Amino acid sequence: MSVAVAQSIDVQQELTDGFHLVIDALKLNDINTIYAVPGIPISDLCRMAQGEGIRVISFRHEQNAGNAAAIAGYLTQKPGVCLTVSAPGFLNGLTALANATTNCFPMILISGSSEREIVDLQQGDYEEMDQLAIAKPLCKAAFRVLHAQDVGIGIARAIRAACSGRPGGVYLDLPAKFFSQVMTAEAGAKSLVKVIDAAPEQIPAPAAVERALDVLKGAKRPLIILGKGASYAQVDDKIRELVEKTGIPFLPMSMAKGILPDTHPQSAGAARSTVLKDADVVLLIGARLNWLLSHGKGKTWGSEPKKFIQIDIEPKEMDSNVEIVAPLVGDIGSCVSALLAGMGGKWAKAPADWVGAVNAKKEANIAKMAPKLMNNASPMNYHSALGALREIIKDRPDAILVNEGANTLDLARGIIDMYKPRKRLDVGTWGVMGIGMGFAVAAAVETGQPVLAIEGDSAFGFSGMEVETICRYNLPVCVVIFNNNGIYRGTDVNPTGGEDVAPMVFVKDARYDKMMEAFGGVGAHVTTPDELKRAVIAAMDSGKPTLINAVIDPAAGTESGNIGSLNPQSAVVRKK
Ligand code: ADP
Ligand code: MG
Repeated sequence: MSVAVAQSIDVQQELTDGFHLVIDALKLNDINTIYAVPGIPISDLCRMAQGEGIRVISFRHEQNAGNAAAIAGYLTQKPGVCLTVSAPGFLNGLTALANATTNCFPMILISGSSEREIVDLQQGDYEEMDQLAIAKPLCKAAFRVLHAQDVGIGIARAIRAACSGRPGGVYLDLPAKFFSQVMTAEAGAKSLVKVIDAAPEQIPAPAAVERALDVLKGAKRPLIILGKGASYAQVDDKIRELVEKTGIPFLPMSMAKGILPDTHPQSAGAARSTVLKDADVVLLIGARLNWLLSHGKGKTWGSEPKKFIQIDIEPKEMDSNVEIVAPLVGDIGSCVSALLAGMGGKWAKAPADWVGAVNAKKEANIAKMAPKLMNNASPMNYHSALGALREIIKDRPDAILVNEGANTLDLARGIIDMYKPRKRLDVGTWGVMGIGMGFAVAAAVETGQPVLAIEGDSAFGFSGMEVETICRYNLPVCVVIFNNNGIYRGTDVNPTGGEDVAPMVFVKDARYDKMMEAFGGVGAHVTTPDELKRAVIAAMDSGKPTLINAVIDPAAGTESGNIGSLNPQSAVVRKK
């Protein structure tokens, strides 16, 4: 055989397949981490991805892998990728995908699926399910790729759909047969697409900018509300310039804390109810007027209708709950720049009497809170334990705080000041429990910073098995469990006097710290704020996976934390 003929056979034999093309397409688009739970039909994809240099973080349950991908998207502006098996694995991941979409986080859920021919005839395949149809109403976009030569386009569309406009979750369905389809490497390489400018700038209309400035100019008691859209946008300096130039008090929504430090003189966080009640003009920047802001109405919003200026990339968000007198549709960076340009060199600061009133209220509230945060008694209550953790974040502002629970969430949000943007990750728009360990893992993986996860004992239970994942990857995560023996409180009793404990209580005096020790991490059991502080500092200094079981007075919590009004209570007493 001549050399030339041998070479041409070699060239012909250079092949690729669905597995390789998925990996090549992700890498081409700078997606270098996958959050996964391996199994049929994607186990080889996980192995090969690792072999090709993608970091594959393997979880114990798909919901946690999905939550990790979602928050990776929030932190990086690149879609976080979650990879699952078919039917049940897909469904487990779907909760996280829906949550990502609700929170406007870019994410792609890629699930393997069963054979189309069998699924569509409903002939009972292994893990049979029409996954694409089920995913569609729960995410921003959903696609299926049947042929290896189309996966480059499929992944490009998924990335663009996740990142452009209002970010959100995208589903990508890959049937088992797709993976082993073969084509020549050359044609395969040509079929891939590198997405150019996945989230294009969206410049607001000049007339809309002028209208917004006119409304702002007329304000007597203006307020700026920053939402997690503003933190996602990563235009922290521009936002600070706008806030400082106008002198307007600002209120951060929980995940927007730290865009400007909570200790900034214009922060109105400690006067939240006052500013929400009394402001006459509210500038919303990447925040929605949903339940978290009483839908822009409700008792606390005063009798005079407020005027709202809203910056949002999603035009349909305008007037969602109340009239928006000055809608500013565009990306936050462009909108804030346009406002600053329109203000020019001199712009009158917010009226001094209003700023003074807000500051007086704020100082009074801070002074009232201070002694509660300094109590070192045992058992701890929420305030004393959080008072200790507050000092830790003050000393280590780069650490990422993950937070979920009821009282543990509501009180931590108010008590723990944040100093830097995108450092507070929590239950978000749904107020969902179960994000804790998924968020903690991804925060550590994506940023390399230490993570402090402050978890209610109930909230932790939804993702607790991932402490094994944290140990396996040796991540610098310190989990603090506020252990009050139950949901809201650990004091409920079974009204019948029967053997079963009440539905809202857990095993009394459980030792969650032993769970971390079981996998080689560090466990600690603490009963005072001083012990708690020492244990967290040791964890953060060592960077070792740590779980601290912090004993909280079982009687300290209130029903549903701050949102008791959403939890209907029966007033009917039945005769026995
Ligand atoms: P929060 O719960 O903190 O109030 P929301 O999730 O309710 O925040 O609101 C975030 C808003 O930010 C959404 O309406 C979303 O469309 C918007 N948003 C997200 N990213 C951008 C961006 N880059 N530019 C403009 N708006 C954005
Ligand atoms: Mg509890």
